Amino acid sequence: MSITPLMPVYPRCDVRPVRGDNCHLIDENGTRYLDFASGIAVNLLGHSHPALIGAIQRQAETLMHVSNLYGSPQGEALAQKLVDNTFADTVFFSNSGAEAVETAIKTARAYHQNHEDGDKNRHDIITFTNAFHGRTMATISASNQAKMHQGFLPLLEGFQYCEFDDLEAAEKLIGPTTAGFLVEPIQGEGGIRPASQEFMSGLRALADQHGLMLILDEVQCGVARTGKLYAHELYGIEPDIMASAKGIGGGFPLGACLATEKAARGMTFGTHGSTYGGNPLAMAAGMAVMETVANDEFLASVREKGERIRSRLEQFIGNYPDLFDFVRGSGLMLGLRMKVESRPFFVHLRDNHQLLTVAAGDQTIRILPPLVIGDAEIDEFFDKLSAGAASYDIPEN
Ligand SMILES: *Cc1c(COP(=O)(O)O)cnc(C)c1O
Repeated sequence: MSITPLMPVYPRCDVRPVRGDNCHLIDENGTRYLDFASGIAVNLLGHSHPALIGAIQRQAETLMHVSNLYGSPQGEALAQKLVDNTFADTVFFSNSGAEAVETAIKTARAYHQNHEDGDKNRHDIITFTNAFHGRTMATISASNQAKMHQGFLPLLEGFQYCEFDDLEAAEKLIGPTTAGFLVEPIQGEGGIRPASQEFMSGLRALADQHGLMLILDEVQCGVARTGKLYAHELYGIEPDIMASAKGIGGGFPLGACLATEKAARGMTFGTHGSTYGGNPLAMAAGMAVMETVANDEFLASVREKGERIRSRLEQFIGNYPDLFDFVRGSGLMLGLRMKVESRPFFVHLRDNHQLLTVAAGDQTIRILPPLVIGDAEIDEFFDKLSAGAASYDIPEN
């Protein structure tokens, strides 16, 4: 037998963490890593936040799971918290980002198809190049990235790909079968690429004009990551439907599909479900995260730290004009665009300087620290990054 017990779909690196300590990870050998990856924008509160640990411990002792056959005081409380703090009127809880996006797609289609005033022909969702929406059949079908399709054909029908940030092209694709748009306001896997203001306002206007659903995938950029609770607030627009996950459970698996009352009009009894979705344990984790991050003081601190890191990064990259191109992103969702392949540099930082970041598309290094970092972690980050850049030999190829 040569296959590993863990299905070998991930090329895992040699770092094998066994413990977390605030913004650091400690591996099997006791080596400490500075974690500016946060489990890919998940561990908003770091690895040992007392509010999150306490909430999960207390809930585990009280009640973990009952199914959605019963009333859910815990789910109602977290849904109300999200409704109070966002554009949304209603929330469906899932266990992951891909499921939240799936729910969003179903909600948009049902808006048109499962209502007497709807148009049953509207099923196509316009999506954008280099998007990432998850790994289920619908969410890979929603992305134009061939590498995710390879081996899994046929794709699901009903998605049309459009150039990201090209409003004119998006408008041209609208037809009698269009149901809506699905877009990341700031592309994550694609390389921390923010949509322009014109594009986001333009999609909102097109959706209004044509009666379409504007679905935002805020799985990576949402939940205080950008210094706003959700990234669309940076643009001054509101979606009809939005997928949230990653940071929302702070490390506990949790996703959510948020919608306005109007957008959710097709999601009636029996149309959708999930066995685990919104179970009391997940709700306790989500509530601990929301109670910590959904306030002006916390959000302002994310913006302040983000601006501080960004301006230091901009100064720093001036020392290495052959290596770095520019910095982009918002809050603590920052991308360092390189002039060379980013992956080997990300590996160098990890293996030789114990600094964890995340490689992304478009020659970009993702800088996604826990939102609770302090001055000491910021200084340590720059020490490691400077040492990493100074010791880096650009690989030939
Ligand atoms: C990570 C991600 C997803 C998928 O989330 P999973 O929890 O891995 O299913 C979807 N959309 C975006 C923008 C993401 O970054």
